[in-house]
Amino acid sequence: MNPRDVANQLRVLGIEPGSVLLVHISFRAIRPIEGGPQGLIEALRLALGPQGTLVMPSWTGDDETPFDPATTPAAEDLGATADLFWRQPGVVRSGHLQAFAAIGPRAEAIVKTPLPLPPHTPDSPAGRVHDLDGQVLLLGVGHDADTSLHVAELLAEVPYGIPRHCTVMLDGRAMRIDYLENDHCCQRFALADGWLRARGLQAEGPVGHGTARLFRARDVVRLTVEELRRDPLLFLHGAGERCAECDEARRSTLG
Ligand SMILES: [Zn+2]
Repeated sequence: MNPRDVANQLRVLGIEPGSVLLVHISFRAIRPIEGGPQGLIEALRLALGPQGTLVMPSWTGDDETPFDPATTPAAEDLGATADLFWRQPGVVRSGHLQAFAAIGPRAEAIVKTPLPLPPHTPDSPAGRVHDLDGQVLLLGVGHDADTSLHVAELLAEVPYGIPRHCTVMLDGRAMRIDYLENDHCCQRFALADGWLRARGLQAEGPVGHGTARLFRARDVVRLTVEELRRDPLLFLHGAGERCAECDEARRSTLG
């Protein structure tokens, strides 16, 4: 399958030319595509057209080393495509470690935010995709990779927060910043499939040799905030389900 075929699949799925598109990718789940991850980036840009803005996560998993947008690799679990994307000519990347990368007319407006702590506040790059009424594409991954849901958790003011830290350069010195993050195993983010499907707000179909989900950030955030207002711990596994990450999040609500 070549990039043009993949671009056609993306159009059929519902990618709107000229729109803002945030993509989370597992290339392994949709390969082979001619040209590899580079061919996939080409396909996404073809589908969006020159007036579209393509956005990908680009943060580092390194808490100890100050971030340099020109050299710091993207976290390994973001995959090969995300790490290739920020290195492309014309792509802009956030200047902080919770980075996203983007290309297109809205790129600067999306990625050039102040350092958001926790990572996906309403004024983070994912929050700005939401504000700009962007679409979200999950390519070979599920909602467990969907950063919009972390934006929704913060808008709904979920009561859990796990102690995390990062390291930034301040006045020429490396400085540690401690913060609380709305984090857990994220498996129950899969609930968003049901909320979106029930209202016909999620397109699903083949892209490459895998499956993709496409929806508007505003739809998933709105529905998720409604659900979390009814049950703020909805995304955490139950106390009997032996999930260490969700147990930690649950304990953090007691303190
Ligand atoms: Zn869990």
